[in-house]
Amino acid sequence: MGLTGQKIKDIRAYVAGGGGGDYHDQGQEHWIVNQIATPMSIYPEYKKTRTSFGINALKTLVIEVEADNGEVGVGISTGGYPAAWIVMNHLDRFIVGQPVENVEKMWDQMYRSTMYYGRKGVVMNAISAVDLALWDLIGKVRQEPVYAMIGGKVRDEISCYATGPRPDLAKEMGFIGGKIPLVYGPADGEEGLRKNIEQAADMRERVGDDFWLMWDCWMSLDLPYAQKLMEKSSELGFRWIEECFNPDDYWAYRDLKKRAPNNMMVTGGEHEATRYGFRMLMEFSDVDIIQPDVGWCGGLTELIKIGNLAESYGKYVIPHGSGVYSYHYVTTKTNSPFAEYLVMSPNADKVVPQYYPLLEDEIIPENGKVKLSDRPGFGVSLNKKANLQKVNKD
Ligand SMILES: [Mg+2]
Repeated sequence: MGLTGQKIKDIRAYVAGGGGGDYHDQGQEHWIVNQIATPMSIYPEYKKTRTSFGINALKTLVIEVEADNGEVGVGISTGGYPAAWIVMNHLDRFIVGQPVENVEKMWDQMYRSTMYYGRKGVVMNAISAVDLALWDLIGKVRQEPVYAMIGGKVRDEISCYATGPRPDLAKEMGFIGGKIPLVYGPADGEEGLRKNIEQAADMRERVGDDFWLMWDCWMSLDLPYAQKLMEKSSELGFRWIEECFNPDDYWAYRDLKKRAPNNMMVTGGEHEATRYGFRMLMEFSDVDIIQPDVGWCGGLTELIKIGNLAESYGKYVIPHGSGVYSYHYVTTKTNSPFAEYLVMSPNADKVVPQYYPLLEDEIIPENGKVKLSDRPGFGVSLNKKANLQKVNKD
């Protein structure tokens, strides 16, 4: 028996599909399904939408872990069906029967046992979702919020910037900045570059000189294009240029950072995983801000290690999206001075819950700021009315 006296009696995996919480699966009238520059934009047939190349093919993964006393922890990631299969047929053995607080041991066993086929991607999505569910469960069993268990708050409120196509509306809603998904990539040539810069100049005019503007490039660029975009956007006072390259191309990140003007930060890491991947990004590529996604990088257990490493490198950690799962971390760290909010309303004009309709009681920013409640765990529970498909053990 562990300290809490509680062991894990069950683990459950669900896949959430269209209309049921897969955030890339938003129907056809949503900014996130409009044209955004991606690694697939070089192929005309896959340029118009990300769903055309299957960004929503795997669906969303939801994990529940249940303690002997009936408390339930919930974690969310992508990776859908294949990740759910891995959780129910491989990872479950390291979880069921364990004392609920043994998260470090459970994480390490999940990681080591999948090393021969895992390390990143779908497997790390699966490990992350289980890890988030475990932290949620520990908090619910101990009746403490996650932030309190990992060091407590260093600030009462979290200021957020907004990601979406309308920084001007984000400013009106109280956010500290707006990050625009880049529309045109290298395959659109000089004309596409000109359109990107026209959009940037238009936004700068709408929001004024002091509001933060950034680019989100979603792995779509090559070095010459990124350099041109960076230089022209720096003249418009853009604050950073994000995730320009294939996450494996640490050399391109290094070279862009070397060429960056003083007023422009180079950021990345949203699709990076584990302390090892982030060590490369910081030590070798020297990016200014790392942006781990707590649902992809290895969960909260790994994010804490990544964040501590970042502190020693003098880098900010501004996690990618992930709502409450990120906010509980951010509020405990001095080198995470603000957070991202992904504007999930179809026209980017309203603040809505990040995981709607998957979670109940999800905290959202008010006037651009998040104030966490003192509810146990991450303060949320699974909405059983969402479109959830249970994936059983084979
Ligand atoms: Mg991004």
